[in-house]
Amino acid sequence: VGQGQGQRGDGAVKATAAAPPNLHLRRLNPKLELEGYGVAMPGLAGGLELMLQTLAVSDYRSIRNLVVPLTPLTVITGPSGVGKGTLVKRLLERQPEIWLSVSATTRAPREGEVDGQSYFFHSREAFDALVATGGLLEWAEFAGNGYGTPRAPVEEQLASGRPVLLEIELEGARQVRRSFPTGFQIFLAPPSFSELERRIRGRGTDAEDAIRRRLARAEQELKAQGEFDAVVINDTLDTALFELERLMELC
Ligand code: ADP
Ligand code: 5GP
Repeated sequence: VGQGQGQRGDGAVKATAAAPPNLHLRRLNPKLELEGYGVAMPGLAGGLELMLQTLAVSDYRSIRNLVVPLTPLTVITGPSGVGKGTLVKRLLERQPEIWLSVSATTRAPREGEVDGQSYFFHSREAFDALVATGGLLEWAEFAGNGYGTPRAPVEEQLASGRPVLLEIELEGARQVRRSFPTGFQIFLAPPSFSELERRIRGRGTDAEDAIRRRLARAEQELKAQGEFDAVVINDTLDTALFELERLMELC
C-alpha cells in the first residue's frame, strides 16, 4: 500500500511507494479530511499509486470512505495501579519514536513528579479554562481530580507523522474513540482484583481514601474492557510489554 500525501490546491494527490512500517489500516473513517492523511485501498495496492496520481481533488469526496490516517494513535487505558505507567515507560525506552502525550491535571504532584514531564499540574481554575476554550482533546474527572489531554501537541505530532500514545482513563478513551475512530485502543487488565489492590497499595503514593476511590472506579473500568480493540493482561511485565509491541505492530 502506498503512502499517500494529500495536497490541497494543486489539483492532484501524490503518492509515494514507501509505506511507513506502522501504517494502520484497521478501520476506515468517512469523516477524516484529506490534509495530513493518506488514501489506502486494501487489496488494490497495485493500482493505488496510479489512481492517486491521476485523482483530481474534486473527485476525492467520492472515495473519502477509503481514507485512513497514516499516523497511528494508540490509547492505553486500565484501572489505576494496573501498571500502565510502568509499562509505558518500558515501551518508550525501547521505542523512542513514540510520542507520549503529557496530560493536564488538577491532582497534586506526587513525590518525584515533574511539571511538564509527568503532567502539567494546574489549578482547578486553569484546568476549567482549558476545557472551556477547547484546549483539551478529551477530559474526565477521576477520583476527585480533572485530567485531560492537551489538544494542540497531539495534533502537531500526528501531523508530523510521529506515532502518538495516550495513557488515559475510560471516559477519556471513549471520547477519543469518537474523535479518532481509527485510533487503536488497548485495555490493560490486572491478573486479578486482589493483585490490583496489592499494586496500588504497594506503590505507596495514595492516601487511603484515594485508594478506595480508585478501587471503586477500577471495578467499573474492568467491566468496560470489552469495548476495547484488545485487552492485555499485565501479569508478567515482560510478557505484557511484548504483547503491547505486537499489537502496536512494533515487533
Ligand atoms: P498505573 O500507572 O496503571 O496506575 P503503575 O505503573 O504506577 O500503575 O504501577 C502500580 C504498581 O504496580 C507499581 O508499584 C509498579 O511497580 C507495580 N507493577 C507494575 N507492573 C507490574 C507487574 N507486571 N507485576 C508486578 N508489579 C507491577
Ligand atoms: P494518576 O493520578 O494515577 O496519575 O492517574 C489517574 C488516572 O487518570 C489514570 O487512570 C490515568 O490513566 C488517567 N489519566 C491520566 N491522564 C489523563 C488524561 O489526560 N485524560 C484522562 N481522561 N485520563 C487521564
